[in-house]
Amino acid sequence: MSTHDLNGRSILLIISGGIAAYKSLDLIRLLKKSGAQVRTILTKGGEQFVTPLSVSALSGEEAFTDLWSLKDETEMGHIRLSREADLIVIAPASADIMAKMADGMANDLATTTLLAANAPILLAPAMNVQMWNNPATQANIAELKKRGITTVGPNEGEMACGEFGPGRMSEPEEILSAIYDHFFDRPLKGLHAIVTSGPTREPIDPVRFIGNHSSGKQGHAIAKALLAAGADVTLISGPVSIPDPSHVKTIRVETAQQMLDACEGALPADIAICAAAVCDWAPKKVNNQKLKKESSRDHLTIEFTKTPDILHTIAKHALRPCLVVGFAAETQDVIDNGRKKLAGKSCDIILANDVSGEKVFGKNTNHVHCLTATDTLDWGEISKDDVAGQLIRTICKLLDNKAEQENSHAAE
Ligand code: C5P
Repeated sequence: MSTHDLNGRSILLIISGGIAAYKSLDLIRLLKKSGAQVRTILTKGGEQFVTPLSVSALSGEEAFTDLWSLKDETEMGHIRLSREADLIVIAPASADIMAKMADGMANDLATTTLLAANAPILLAPAMNVQMWNNPATQANIAELKKRGITTVGPNEGEMACGEFGPGRMSEPEEILSAIYDHFFDRPLKGLHAIVTSGPTREPIDPVRFIGNHSSGKQGHAIAKALLAAGADVTLISGPVSIPDPSHVKTIRVETAQQMLDACEGALPADIAICAAAVCDWAPKKVNNQKLKKESSRDHLTIEFTKTPDILHTIAKHALRPCLVVGFAAETQDVIDNGRKKLAGKSCDIILANDVSGEKVFGKNTNHVHCLTATDTLDWGEISKDDVAGQLIRTICKLLDNKAEQENSHAAE
């Protein structure tokens, strides 16, 4: 799995009655953005809160509402609706629909489809706190869980009715995350990862800077792959023209110092991946005014100072993440120089690439050697998404090894 992608997955979303139904519109949008096909059923209650028109406009498919509609039944019968779904999501799931499911009732399109379903079901309950706490609802949810139905939420908080407590439907992003949990193995779930990406810009004066051609494609691909593997990701990006990855906390910075500050501010983390092409040098003095092109001046001399080494600082930090990964862009002796960097920068993995030949910046592929304390692997010329996927697998292996070592030390 290299991208955060629901391409080819079909989700049947059932919207039952509740004020939280408005959030389901956003869920449809997120699902579509992730590539899923979204079919929808609205219960009579659901229709009171959102209209079939808004739902179908967002899903790009007809919103089904009626069990007894000849048109609905000929276009897409309730059996097909359930059979063609890889996952059925009920959001919001009202107390009423859960009670009907627990009792095996089938008196409208949603409940009939659910009774006929052989696809897995995910519930996102939403109701008043007293309704949620009612023993009848609790018994129903316990029964549904016993049957293998999974749930996300409800969250605790202020309710639309003014009361406070559990009953708020999970946010669309949380429901989306539960959907990913359903489809994908998420080996990095619960871990926090920091990724640096893109170039830095070191100002000379208010209009000029020194920078480089880094596109941020590799770092951003890594952030997306970490997210897909379940990690909570903080992406710290220099100025790039590619969009911020969705669902990733992205902090935009300009200079190396700002990038370091943002990294330190994001600690603690379990994993740090420094993929940014950080400027090694910054002008010692930033001019407050634009440097004038005076006719008397044929040359301009700018004094530079070293920027902080973010990778090294994080790898030596008191809050050092368990795994620290760096890149080594080399023009000669790629592996030897990469190995020196692995030791010199105190990191666990170096991805070393040869930047001597044709341009690497902005390309969609990358040819790296993966260097760890024990291995040197040539991954060949592959897409930046695939480099990210391979890196996630390597990280998982190293984290497993570290955990095993810790367990055997503890046992000694
Ligand atoms: O020192 P060099 O630039 O060759 O090392 C490359 C690695 O170090 C990359 O992972 C890059 O993100 C990181 N780096 C850094 N801060 C710097 C320079 C490089 O984090 N100032």
